[in-house]
Amino acid sequence: MLNRCGRRLLLALAGALLACLLVLTADPPPPPPPSERGRRALRSLAGPGGAAPVVGLDTAPAREVRSLSEYFGRLARARTDTGPLPGGASRPADAVPRAPTESLAPRDVFIAVKTTKKFHRARLDLLLETWISRHKEMTFIFTDGEDEVLVRHTGNVINTNCSSAHSRQALSCKMAVEYDRFIESGRKWFCHVDDDNYVNVQALLRLLASYPHTQDVYLGKPSLDRPIQATERVGEGEVRPVHFWFATGGAGFCISRGLALKMSPWASGGHFLSTAERIRLPDDCTIGYIVEALLGVPLTRSGLFHSHLENLQQVPASELHEQVTLSYGMFENKRNAIHLKGAFSVDADPSRYGN
Ligand code: UDP
Ligand code: MN
Repeated sequence: MLNRCGRRLLLALAGALLACLLVLTADPPPPPPPSERGRRALRSLAGPGGAAPVVGLDTAPAREVRSLSEYFGRLARARTDTGPLPGGASRPADAVPRAPTESLAPRDVFIAVKTTKKFHRARLDLLLETWISRHKEMTFIFTDGEDEVLVRHTGNVINTNCSSAHSRQALSCKMAVEYDRFIESGRKWFCHVDDDNYVNVQALLRLLASYPHTQDVYLGKPSLDRPIQATERVGEGEVRPVHFWFATGGAGFCISRGLALKMSPWASGGHFLSTAERIRLPDDCTIGYIVEALLGVPLTRSGLFHSHLENLQQVPASELHEQVTLSYGMFENKRNAIHLKGAFSVDADPSRYGN
């Protein structure tokens, strides 16, 4: 009897000890898998322009963690991901809040919004009703089709005459026109956003005013956790590997005039398209290639830019007013938008921009 009790006690103790060990060793649940990162670039790569040979992107689909060993395996992989970078590359410096270095008026900034005719009603109208309406003189809309309704509502609508396909070439064609129009404008800063971005112009002006526009500044947020590795065509049939950081276009990014002028040999006129062809990557990657790989200017990472490739629910409500850009869209088949309690329900205002 005593023996049996003793054995039971021993078993219970061992069980409790094992449970404690498991609780202690298992960290909090892992962060969402990094499958979101790079998806945008990858999706664009798979377009009719043909896939480019890119290595180093995490293409694993989102999966449930099925066993403890798989969980630990994933954590170990995540740790290696934050380890040394290929070729001794360094991570982008973080933009830190700085004192203003120059006074900046709204007319000093050129905000290019990339859109396409089929999104004029579906996306652009929302922007015209919200942030663009108050900042028309800063905003330039780059599209691919005529639209009288749009022209009646806002001033700067530029029909790029680029193809309306979502191909690498069509997107680079629009970026090339954005770049040329910025250079012509004589403004101090070029910022690019997508038509699913909300721009907080006051926060944008605060951020840009803390950098001298005459120096080399490339500000934005990468969507990958390491430099993109691509193959650069350097001559007839000759290729070499190249890696560089780029700010994801879907979060928006900004370039100082000083830097934009230096980009001219690879970005102006028809050169942007041929540069994009050299690495066969989408428009935002091509910007990173010119700035980081060809000019040797590092990206300055800012956490104030947000695309819908990140979990927007994680932007703290108390810090929303400080963010430079926000976005909305789908993420792993779920609606992704900032968490905001406002006057309108999620059904009435799914993007949360109207609130
Ligand atoms: N876009 C475009 N042509 C197209 C499809 C999209 O110019 O045929 C633009 C769109 O207006 C947006 C950007 O490309 O500014 C990204 O498109 P989307 O948000 O649909 O894709 P994702 O963010 O998933 O890359
Ligand atoms: Mn988008």
